[in-house]
Amino acid sequence: MTPSPAPLTAAERRDLQALLVERQRHLRGEIKAHLRGTGDSGVVGLSSVPAETDDWGVGDELAARDIAEAKQLLSELADVEAALARSAAGTYGECVDCGEPIAPARLRAYPAATRCIACQGALEKREAGPPLTAV
Ligand SMILES: [Zn+2]
Repeated sequence: MTPSPAPLTAAERRDLQALLVERQRHLRGEIKAHLRGTGDSGVVGLSSVPAETDDWGVGDELAARDIAEAKQLLSELADVEAALARSAAGTYGECVDCGEPIAPARLRAYPAATRCIACQGALEKREAGPPLTAV
């Protein structure tokens, strides 16, 4: 029995869309940097990129970490682009699974959210693997 949250105002939608566009640009830059390898972080120009990796010493470990990061960035980019597409279609803020409005507080915290909390939780449970059912 949750009271339905107040819908997003037009101004909030605009703000969230601006955040998404900015996030998309940022993610694309980071992914490009990952694809290029870690050798030329100067191209990226982000202060958040860790300093060069000479003192890691373990190339394989670094590569695995890099791939994992790139995967995460790609999946976030997919969410951001899905959110932008729905923003263009006028369905931004609706859960892609159940069609219910996503809580505005959730969108403010994570503008790329494509699912309500309940569906996101269910999805993460599915992705964690099939439930171990006792037969
Ligand atoms: Zn949902």
